[in-house]
Amino acid sequence: MSEQSTVAGRLSLEGRCALVTGGAGGIGQAVVRVLAEAGAKVCSVDLPESASPEGASLHLCADLSQESAAQALIQDCADRLAPPSLLVHCAGITRDGVLWKLSAESWSQVLRVNLDAAFYLLKHLTPHFRQQDRSAAVLLSSINGERGKFGQSNYAASKAGLIGLAKTAARELGRFGCRVNVIAPGMVRTQMTKNLPPEIQQRAAEETVLGGIAEPQDIADAALFLCSDLSSQITGQVLRVDGGQLIA
Ligand code: NAD
Repeated sequence: MSEQSTVAGRLSLEGRCALVTGGAGGIGQAVVRVLAEAGAKVCSVDLPESASPEGASLHLCADLSQESAAQALIQDCADRLAPPSLLVHCAGITRDGVLWKLSAESWSQVLRVNLDAAFYLLKHLTPHFRQQDRSAAVLLSSINGERGKFGQSNYAASKAGLIGLAKTAARELGRFGCRVNVIAPGMVRTQMTKNLPPEIQQRAAEETVLGGIAEPQDIADAALFLCSDLSSQITGQVLRVDGGQLIA
């Protein structure tokens, strides 16, 4: 039986190299672990002095808001591990504040990490993606990029921007057999959300139809699906993983 004729074969990432940004973060760590379990060699990347997550074949440190750093990191991964054919962009930050009090610096910091970095990564990964079969990129957006969120104009704009970027990249890279998709989580239990006031966490749980907050593993499983051949006809899409927090 050929690999492609079994579900396990279509789910396998054996022989693939995946770049996971924000690999030391809550969702990133789960993504690294799950993609490695599926057989990929995983290159994790996070800020300087970050720790290597479990399952990573290689961990590199870079500030992805700088184009030169993103470009160098991709070359480093290709030289030291293998040319990447998969990307899961989890690096992201928040700098919340109502927009009439938000500094221009907080606005651009968030845009630089959440959105500019995704552009740099896709741009400099394209030559590698073009040379390999079945390349795929997954960008971590948020339901707040679709619905807006009080106090998060910068974050919501960056996450909405990722959707436009992914849809355009899907159109431009499709001719090379490369797929580009977005995951839009609702609230997920990680470092990013654990310091939010309990009533906000409670409200998010109540907004879901499944009645709870997602775990990083839930997002990682969706990323595996979108990287694998189980989703080989899916591109330019936004997959909400939010327990039904935003049904629209
Ligand atoms: P996290 O804070 O645990 O992880 C984010 C990681 O990104 C951190 O390890 C951080 O060091 C890294 N990072 C930040 N700036 C960077 C830079 N300039 N270069 C390289 N790495 C950098 O957050 P998380 O909860 O794991 O979120 C992962 C992604 O999922 C983010 O894009 C976030 O916006 C998105 N998301 C999270 C939630 C949630 O509720 N946690 C909900 C929706 C979307």
